Amino acid sequence: MIIHTEQLRKIYVMGVERIAALDGVSIDIETNEYVAIMGSSGSGKSTLMNILGCLDRSTSGKYFLNGQNIRSLTSAQIARVRNEQIGFVFQSFELLSRMNAVRNVEMPLLYSRGDWSARRRKARAALERVGLGDRMRHRPNQLSGGQKQRVAIARAILNKPAILLADEPTGNLDSATTREILELFDQLHADGQTIIIVTHENDVAAHCQRIIRLRDGKVDSDRPAAEDLAGRVHPEIANRRNGAARTGPAVAAAPVRTPEAGSC
Ligand code: ADP
Ligand code: MG
Repeated sequence: MIIHTEQLRKIYVMGVERIAALDGVSIDIETNEYVAIMGSSGSGKSTLMNILGCLDRSTSGKYFLNGQNIRSLTSAQIARVRNEQIGFVFQSFELLSRMNAVRNVEMPLLYSRGDWSARRRKARAALERVGLGDRMRHRPNQLSGGQKQRVAIARAILNKPAILLADEPTGNLDSATTREILELFDQLHADGQTIIIVTHENDVAAHCQRIIRLRDGKVDSDRPAAEDLAGRVHPEIANRRNGAARTGPAVAAAPVRTPEAGSC
C-alpha cells in the first residue's frame, strides 16, 4: 500500500465561515495503481491532491505515504519527502519562463547532492523519455502546450517519485494533445509508476483503472473505471483497461506490458 488515509479533514476558516473542503476521506492506493479523481468543481479534488502531494497539511485525520505517517513529520522532513517521493503536474504547467526546458527539468535537483554534469545528464534523460530530446534549449514560450506539459512531466518524474500526481493535466490542452499526454501517462504506468490524475473528463478517466468520485469533500464512489464509466462513455472506451466491468472492491491490476492492454 503506497497511500493510506484515514478520515482526512481539511477545514478552511474564512472569517466566521468554516468550509470543510475535505470531510473524512479514507482511501487506499496500491503501488502501480492508475487512479482518476473526479467530482464537480469545489468537491475537494485539488485539496486532496495537495495533501497527498505534501504541499498542504490536513486539519485532522491520518496520511501514510509508503508507511510513513506524514502528519507526524516536521516541515523540513515533509519538504524532503515531497522532493524525493512526489512528482506533481499541474494544469498550468508551472514552468519558469526564463529558463529553457533542460533547466526547468533540473530544478528539483538544484539543492541535492551530486555535481552539475550529473544533474544535467538526468534532466536530459528525462526529456528524452517524454519525447523532447530535440527541444532541450527551448524556453516555454517557444513550446506548444503539449510540449510544455511534457517538460513538466519530465520534471515530475526526474527523481523517480513514488507517486505521480496530476491535477487536471490536460485541462488546457486540445483533444489531440490530450491523447498524446495520456499515452505518455499510460507508458509511465506500464513502466510501474503509480499515477493519480484529477480530471472531469470521462475520456481521460477511461485511461485509469479506478475512479474515485468526490462530492462535498467526501468519497461518493470508488470503483473500477469500467464499472464507473459504463453508460457514461462508449462501451469500448469504458472497457479499455478493465475488460468487462467488475464488481466488488477496486483492486490493483498487475502491471501490464503489452501496448494494447497497457492503454486501459
Ligand atoms: P476542486 O479542486 O474539486 O474544484 P478544491 O479542493 O479546490 O475543489 O476546493 C474545495 C473547497 O474548498 C471549495 O469550496 C473551495 O472554495 C474551498 N477552498 C479551497 N482552497 C481554499 C482556500 N485556500 N481557502 C479557503 N477555501 C478554500
Ligand atoms: Mg481543483
